Amino acid sequence: MAEALVLEEKGKLSLRDFPVPDDLGAGDVRVAIRTVGVCGSDVHYYTHGKIGHFVVNEPMILGHEAAGVVLEVGAQVEGLKAGDRVCMEPGIPDQTSRAAKLGIYNVDPSVQFWATPPVHGCLTPEIVHPAAFTYKLPDHVTFAEGAMVEPFAIGMQSALRARIQPGDIAVVTGAGPIGMMTALAALAGGCAKVYVADLAQPKLDIIGAYDGIETINIRETPVAGAIAEATEGWGADVVFECSGAAPAILGLPALARPGGAVVLVGMPVEPAPMDIVGLQAKELRLETVFRYANIYDRAIALIGAGKVDLKPLISATLPFKDSIAAFDRAVEARETDVKIQIELPDA
Ligand SMILES: [Zn+2]
Repeated sequence: MAEALVLEEKGKLSLRDFPVPDDLGAGDVRVAIRTVGVCGSDVHYYTHGKIGHFVVNEPMILGHEAAGVVLEVGAQVEGLKAGDRVCMEPGIPDQTSRAAKLGIYNVDPSVQFWATPPVHGCLTPEIVHPAAFTYKLPDHVTFAEGAMVEPFAIGMQSALRARIQPGDIAVVTGAGPIGMMTALAALAGGCAKVYVADLAQPKLDIIGAYDGIETINIRETPVAGAIAEATEGWGADVVFECSGAAPAILGLPALARPGGAVVLVGMPVEPAPMDIVGLQAKELRLETVFRYANIYDRAIALIGAGKVDLKPLISATLPFKDSIAAFDRAVEARETDVKIQIELPDA
């Protein structure tokens, strides 16, 4: 038994003792969790009890964006030892699966992903995790930054799917945490400029503070007009849809240049219509993103090299004992909040 943040059912969280699985296999590491980010998906399970066909039917530990310290390693683990500071990739595929063999383990149908029912998350002092999905952090990268690698990996996967070329102009529709991560990954991936569009000015102010990012408040300026003006009517090389909002999805073709790419990152709650002829008339390349695969090393390398600074996106840090308050604040969805993190005591 260990203390854990448990989603008992829709709308009901408790911080209580819970039977946390702790068998250390030969290829596993035991990690003392230090920082966990609160993700939109955790919050959605809390407020709605389900995401699509993933339904919370029994109590589940929340949390999947984590960093910590290795306590113990299994008999066959090489390259990690007690005391190493690490972050963990929350999705564990079946490593013998067809998808894993193809290198696309993020879409392995049998992937076990933290805090996706019925799999427990990591908001508890210790977890056991495969060493193969546990990554060392450079000494100067904090646990807080380590816990940001998970959402940043989605931005990285989006940039990868876009096949950015040096000097590309990109647009990101939606300035939520994933939109911001995508914008920063696109810049790191070689974009000359990234335009981020949203209707919440406080969010735009946060992401607009980064060099290389311009913002468009769509309450004041229609995004298509702004992009046309910025590109002399040609359009953006890459459009990242990160809002999941139906009107934004319908308007995608207008933002892209002929022969450009559209990357669908945001997840609409309901099926959303697309302007197929609009896509065809410019022969746009359509890409989709689901989590990430083989990204963590690169994401950590960029953060470690100082090419990407995610610290300004950490809005508040609450202690583990106030986890429920952290979730209730995340539910408020303040426009000045990007990422809320929970810190566990140094064991
Ligand atoms: Zn997440």
